[in-house]
Amino acid sequence: MGKYLRRIIQIVWGILSNAHLTGFFRGSLYDGPLKRFCVPGMNCYSCPGALGACPIGALSSVLAGRNRKFPFYVLGFLITVGVLVGRFICGWLCLFGLIEELLYKIPTPKLRIPEKADRVLRWLKYLVLAVLVVGLPLFYRDETGTGLPFFCEFLCPVGTLEGGIPLVLLNDVLRPTLGWLFRWKFLILVLCVLSSIFIYRPFCKYLCPLGAFYSLFQRFSLVRLRVDTETCIGCGACSRACGMNVDPHRTPNSAECIRCGECTRVCPKNALSFSVAGKTPAKKIRKESDSSEDKKI
Ligand code: SF4
Ligand code: SF4
Repeated sequence: MGKYLRRIIQIVWGILSNAHLTGFFRGSLYDGPLKRFCVPGMNCYSCPGALGACPIGALSSVLAGRNRKFPFYVLGFLITVGVLVGRFICGWLCLFGLIEELLYKIPTPKLRIPEKADRVLRWLKYLVLAVLVVGLPLFYRDETGTGLPFFCEFLCPVGTLEGGIPLVLLNDVLRPTLGWLFRWKFLILVLCVLSSIFIYRPFCKYLCPLGAFYSLFQRFSLVRLRVDTETCIGCGACSRACGMNVDPHRTPNSAECIRCGECTRVCPKNALSFSVAGKTPAKKIRKESDSSEDKKI
């Protein structure tokens, strides 16, 4: 899989899904018909450029609604995307994931969270999904009988970056109204940005409820990573290349794999490939020279 293809798709998708350019000049939101539909990745509804709705925000908002409607459309959308491609969305169609990856490119020493701590921390995103996106919006009600999309309101750094900050910068009237909530969310965003410089995609690994949701379908999704056990020599080059700390030759369909394809690129034996509905779209051309990894064995 071409090294640059994914980057180009990430950038093009980020631009397309935030193509309401006049919003960035006027400080207003697009409210046309497209906004009724969800985009597959995290993309704040309140971003002045957003043409679609964030599925996590939409899910939470429906559950928090006064009459507690069942979120047929959003859940149907999320399940369909999950079954079709799983966390491929995280690796290819998420603007915030792209921003984290670019921050990680800043040349500094990198941090690998110890395996035990990493395993525990990864459960956090499921907790965020269950409690902040579903549980509290569904059960909490204020005196008017309305709920609150807790994740968007109190945690989401994507909303602060794409929605909160641009709107505050573009609307003078909003600035005097800023209080502790904005400062709190700004702090979370700063922590996310700083940690992304040293850790590969920390928000995706540990906090993102959308990644958590899609990961539930990873074992059943039509897009899968396959290992040719006949050719795999167990060199571990794929595991070392994986920023998500997956061992692709052992657990190719791990819930943590974002389908970035980096492992397929570094494998000296072309033992890893993607399949769609059981079919491998393109046979990779075997690399001319076996890498030094091969020679080390
Ligand atoms: S890089 Fe390729 S050959 Fe090496 S362990 Fe991974 S799948 Fe096997
Ligand atoms: S296992 Fe491969 S495709 Fe999955 S996240 Fe790691 S490097 Fe990317």
